Amino acid sequence: MASIFSRIVAGEIPCYKVAEDDRFFAFLDINPMVKGHTLVIPKREVDYIFDLEDDELAGLHLFAKRIAKAQKAAFPCQRIGMAVLGMEVPHTHIHLIPLQKESDMLFSNPKLSFTPEEFEEIAAKIREQL
Ligand code: 5GP
Repeated sequence: MASIFSRIVAGEIPCYKVAEDDRFFAFLDINPMVKGHTLVIPKREVDYIFDLEDDELAGLHLFAKRIAKAQKAAFPCQRIGMAVLGMEVPHTHIHLIPLQKESDMLFSNPKLSFTPEEFEEIAAKIREQL
């Protein structure tokens, strides 16, 4: 069965899309640690990031770089933190998280909640900077 993220890529499950190209896809994390928390994934469903082909792993990072620059312009911050866990969803994803301080990156922090309109506004702000 396809992962929840493959179903998002296929448009079967809605998301707040930030960007896509032929190989990669970026969308807002539904349980954000901070405003602008974005996930970047390869469209090809591979559970573990270090099982990606070399060019796909490199391409994913170049795609993430483009998203991170747009996030930083949309939501001024110290820097964009990057993390890979994959403990919950078995489809490679990079978390891109606008950081004001180190503790913004603690995955044990309580998550924020936004209305659908707020999520859409956040995604649009990042898209405007691409
Ligand atoms: P991880 O696998 O990196 O430990 O955690 C998975 C991440 O994906 C979590 O931050 C969670 O909020 C996010 N996530 C899980 N399911 C969905 C979903 O259906 N839509 C979106 N946008 N994010 C999800």
